[in-house]
Amino acid sequence: MGNPLIQVQNLGKKFGDLEVLKDISVDIYKGDVVCVIGPSGSGKSTFLRCLNRLEEPTSGHILFEGTDIVDKNTNIDKHRQKMGMVFQQFNLFPHMTILKNLTLAPMKLQGKSSKEAEEQALKLLDKVGLKDRANSYPNQLSGGQKQRIAIVRALCMNPDVMLFDEPTSALDPEMVGEVLNVMRELAEEKMTMVVVTHEMGFAKEVATRVMFMDGGYFLEENEPVEFFEHPKNDRLKSFLSKVL
Ligand code: ADP
Ligand code: MG
Repeated sequence: MGNPLIQVQNLGKKFGDLEVLKDISVDIYKGDVVCVIGPSGSGKSTFLRCLNRLEEPTSGHILFEGTDIVDKNTNIDKHRQKMGMVFQQFNLFPHMTILKNLTLAPMKLQGKSSKEAEEQALKLLDKVGLKDRANSYPNQLSGGQKQRIAIVRALCMNPDVMLFDEPTSALDPEMVGEVLNVMRELAEEKMTMVVVTHEMGFAKEVATRVMFMDGGYFLEENEPVEFFEHPKNDRLKSFLSKVL
């Protein structure tokens, strides 16, 4: 298996007196598709946001490709470029075309030429079936299309890991499938992914590991079949009985 891509060691996060993450340790390996499930308010987003330091951990260490990104001396911008993030809300720039949205960061942060950046963007757009929308503006697209663009935007930076925070939760039901399909293809290509999701079918089929977060801990972790068919923790059993 080699060294983990991400090593989370005794991660803790407090907001004032509220202890949201409590002593979390987990290793994520290259090619892992980790699905994180759990009730609302249990700390899933906070966990994900700590992984690329959108939130400052209160305690612990996060080693990404061997570098402790919690260390104040680490150049977090450099490492963050290697971590693609996709949110519930797509956060595309409304006044820019899709192509411009996609080429901005690679040109600005990676020094790519516009030709190079555009070629890559168009190739990835083609892959998600949206090449013909390159010159559209975000508000001309459906929610599902916008989310596929947001995924492509993250991929344009050639990330080593993709972090997804409920990427389909804001979508109309008929658009969920097209976004999950893109994610499924990424997983098939062995992209390392950490996915916070309520899509239990996706977790069951695509995850290499499923983790249940409740009250700021991972209470149970397993490969998907065992996780869903033979849950051990009582709180996981109760959670699954409500969502399945
Ligand atoms: P989840 O994603 O599992 O729904 P979150 O990680 O968003 O949970 O939130 C966990 C807890 O932390 C919640 O009680 C939430 O209100 C609190 N929280 C999240 N972000 C902040 C913040 N920036 N300031 C204060 N409390 C926060
Ligand atoms: Mg959340």
